[in-house]
Amino acid sequence: MLTHNLHTVLAQRPLGLVFDIDGTLSPFAPTPAEALLYPGVSSLLERARDQTGVHVAIVTGRVIDDGASMVNVDGITYVGTHGLEWSNGLPTASTIEVVSESLAYVQAGKQLLDLAEQELAALPGLIIERKRVGGAIHYRLAPDPEEAREKILTLLTEPTHRLDMRLTEGKCLIEIKSPVVVNKGKALRRFAQHFALQGVVFAGDDRTDLDAVMEIARLRQGGLEALSIVVKDVDTLPVLLENADIIVVEVAGMVRLLHEIVEALS
Ligand SMILES: [Mg+2]
Repeated sequence: MLTHNLHTVLAQRPLGLVFDIDGTLSPFAPTPAEALLYPGVSSLLERARDQTGVHVAIVTGRVIDDGASMVNVDGITYVGTHGLEWSNGLPTASTIEVVSESLAYVQAGKQLLDLAEQELAALPGLIIERKRVGGAIHYRLAPDPEEAREKILTLLTEPTHRLDMRLTEGKCLIEIKSPVVVNKGKALRRFAQHFALQGVVFAGDDRTDLDAVMEIARLRQGGLEALSIVVKDVDTLPVLLENADIIVVEVAGMVRLLHEIVEALS
């Protein structure tokens, strides 16, 4: 059953529907490369996209090409690396727009990931993911994840500061980012402004989604009909749940709600 508030948001046009991928539309897999969309999600996104005045966006921490190939629905907006890369429709090399201030940090990011690759080679189970600027080190598969986390932080904290870069953490991953503030909250606001949205729904599950959940509250203060959905799993951060407008249980619960949303739009 949709809540009254959600019905009110879904009645707005233009309406934005914005989704994270991993942990929201796709259950966690042993490695990021093995993760797949939950069955039925792509056709639900297509149905939402085909409604007049409805704009669908995917906002992911993955690099845009990777996130878009997982979702593989054309005619929606893709935002990669937490807001760094944008594409209207499925991205090709020529359609990806990178936030311009970030380009100066490509080399520093590469240097830090090279360092991690060389110095942490003896540590089993690490996966290094390179992005256009910086990247992520995943330690979910390490035999002792807490030890792996500490070794990564010990190695990278000093050189990261020296190169004017930043380290942030997510579920079993450490990210190397440029100091240019790029986050899902800013991405959400930019998307809302671009389409002059009157209503917007955001759904996410992890630490980096908090910026967007908080931005939903600010957009609402600014007069938009806006709601956040947080996907709850065993290790969901309490601060996300405290700030969520709607909580669903696991990706399956999110997909059930997405189905109801699409039905309500049609
Ligand atoms: Mg996620």
